[in-house]
Amino acid sequence: MNFNVTLIPGDGIGPEIVAEATKVLDRVGKRFGVTFTYKKILMGGCSIDAYGVPLTEEALAIAKASDSVLLGAVGGNVGNSSWYQLPPELRPEAGLLKIRKELGLFANIRPAYLYDELKAACPLNPEIIGDGFDMVIMRELTGGIYFGKRYTEEVDGVMKATDICTYDENEIRRIAVKGFEIARKRKKRVISVDKANVLDTSRLWRKVVEEVAKDYPDVTLSHMLVDNCAMQLVKDPKQFDVILTENMFGDILSDEASMVTGSIGMLSSASLSEGRLGLYEPSHGSAPDIAGKNIANPIATILSAAMMLRYSFDLDEAADAVEAAVKRALKEGYRTADIMSEGCRQVSTTEMGDIIAGFCQ
Ligand code: NAD
Repeated sequence: MNFNVTLIPGDGIGPEIVAEATKVLDRVGKRFGVTFTYKKILMGGCSIDAYGVPLTEEALAIAKASDSVLLGAVGGNVGNSSWYQLPPELRPEAGLLKIRKELGLFANIRPAYLYDELKAACPLNPEIIGDGFDMVIMRELTGGIYFGKRYTEEVDGVMKATDICTYDENEIRRIAVKGFEIARKRKKRVISVDKANVLDTSRLWRKVVEEVAKDYPDVTLSHMLVDNCAMQLVKDPKQFDVILTENMFGDILSDEASMVTGSIGMLSSASLSEGRLGLYEPSHGSAPDIAGKNIANPIATILSAAMMLRYSFDLDEAADAVEAAVKRALKEGYRTADIMSEGCRQVSTTEMGDIIAGFCQ
């Protein structure tokens, strides 16, 4: 079996961390009889330098024609890079917005998993942490208040701003289906988060999610109000498996959930479309401050590649093998500089990639 993967190394540490992720993919592929054919495209600052735009139509066409996309990060030092003197639509991040839109990515998944070995980085009390937690936030990405009509006007001499939040049942249904499908690959529990005591969009959200749940009798559904969810994430994070929620609630809750895990270099993410094509990327940026030094943590990108195996290619065993290899590397005391602690062995980006790839075979 072969899969065509578009690689977008991007800027800053992007090329370094993507190289480690493909190293791991190739090794795990060998073990499970799968090959990956890669095509690299430019996006972000490197594309601006080469072509004057952050993403060319040719590059986009390659991504669209592939089975999936693995991205490092785009962007540079916002303060002093010439890329940020350009109009907004020509800046590095415009490439990211364009590819997300063109690939029809409407579901964003961000896992929040606490590794035993990194518990010290978790800001919560040990009693709350217990044996750790393992959840994903499933966020709707293309609807809601961020995409509604917005305007500012003066009414009777007073400035007034309006942002309209809209969802139709089809937008809710397709993300709910993804949420239940993903729960089936996990602990089979969905908590749908809304504000149904106040908002009409939330009441429709709840109704449609309940309809979709009927097709997944093996998955347990419950509902939680968003304000309570924000509290429960720090009070008892162990209760969560899949959190299914709309765009703005997901934006806020996913940052909260990821921060309770500690290190930014460990956080993977996936954005999914209706079909199997997805865009997989670490949650962090291009870290221009450490680019080219071979010290970046490649684990978030490696775990994003594992998500690609699971969610785009249905290669659950291979994904499990990558995740187990990451756990083993941490257990055996290997750390990049960002997660280094006493008694551990500090390794470079490439060494960490080699170690994890080695544990995959
Ligand atoms: P950042 O995530 O790049 O860096 C924040 C801090 O975390 C820095 O100190 C950095 O060194 C550290 N860090 C990040 N990733 C790391 C890793 N893998 N290993 C070790 N340390 C790591 O955020 P920023 O500095 O605010 O943004 C830098 C650039 O990245 C900006 O141009 C921004 O627009 C862009 N950005 C891109 C994406 C993306 O491509 N999806 C996301 C966020 C930010």
